[in-house]
Amino acid sequence: MTEPADAAARRAIAPVICYPTDTLPQPDISLYQSARQTAVKTGEVIAPPREAATFRVPAGHFFRISSIDGPQVGDLNLWNAHDLSERFYSGKTRALHGTHLTTGHRMWSSFPTLRPMATVTHDTLGWYGKDEYGGSVHDVIGTRCDPYTGNLLSGSQYHHCCHSNLIRALADETGLSLAEAEPHVHDVLNVFMCTGFTRDTGQYFMKASPVRPGDHIEFFAEIDLLGALSACPGGDCSSEHSSDTAACFPLLVETFAPADGALDGWAPPPVNGYDRSHGR
Ligand SMILES: [Zn+2]
Repeated sequence: MTEPADAAARRAIAPVICYPTDTLPQPDISLYQSARQTAVKTGEVIAPPREAATFRVPAGHFFRISSIDGPQVGDLNLWNAHDLSERFYSGKTRALHGTHLTTGHRMWSSFPTLRPMATVTHDTLGWYGKDEYGGSVHDVIGTRCDPYTGNLLSGSQYHHCCHSNLIRALADETGLSLAEAEPHVHDVLNVFMCTGFTRDTGQYFMKASPVRPGDHIEFFAEIDLLGALSACPGGDCSSEHSSDTAACFPLLVETFAPADGALDGWAPPPVNGYDRSHGR
C-alpha cells in the first residue's frame, strides 16, 4: 500500500482529548480523607486464590483491597446494592480518566445512571506511574479472564477464570442461578494488575504486578454497593492466566465506617440528568 503525499502531515496533527475533564464533578478528596481518619473497621472478607468473594459497602463508607500473602491481582465488579442493572462501566471510566486508575479517579456506573459509584481515595502503588513499556497499574482496559476466550484459543474447559469466579460469588450472594447471575458480571477494574498496549502492534500486554503484601487500594463508596472481587488465576500475571499453573494468593477486602458527622455536607451523587427522550 502506498502512502499519500501528505501522510506525514496527516500523522503530525496533534491529538485532542476526547473528554476534557474540567467540567467533570470533582470529589472532595480532603473531606473523604478527613472522614477516613475517623473511620472504624466494620468487616472483612477474603477472596481465596482462584475464587471470588462478595462484600457490601453502604454509601459514605470505605473499602480497602489489600495484597496479603504474595503478589496477586484482583478483578473487581461493582453493582448498586439495590439494583444490579446499575453496574460499573469500565469503558466510560477509561474514556473519562484514562487507561489506569489511581487516587482521585472514580468508578462510573452504566447508562442511564452514569454517576460515580466509588472514588479511589488511597493507592499505595500510586508511585508506579507509567513504566518504559507504557505499563501502569489498576487498569480499565482488560476485560476479565473468561473461559470462552480460553476455549476459542485453545479448546480448554477451565472453570476458575475471574468471569466464572464472579458468577459463582454473585449467585451465592443473591440466590440467583448461575445462568441468571452471568449477565450481571461485567468488565472489571483490574486491581493491582500491570498492563498496557505494545507500541508497535497495539496489543494488550501484562507483566508481573509490582504489588507486594501490605499494598492496598482504598475506595469511598458513593452509593450503596455490592462488590465482588476475584483473586485472578493469573496470580501476579507475570506469565499466564486461565489455568492453575501460576502461583496464586488471597486478597483481603475490609470495610470501614466514618464517625457520625464526619461527612457533613456530603450526599450520594444523583443519577445522570439526561432526560432520556432521545429526540422523540
Ligand atoms: Zn482473571
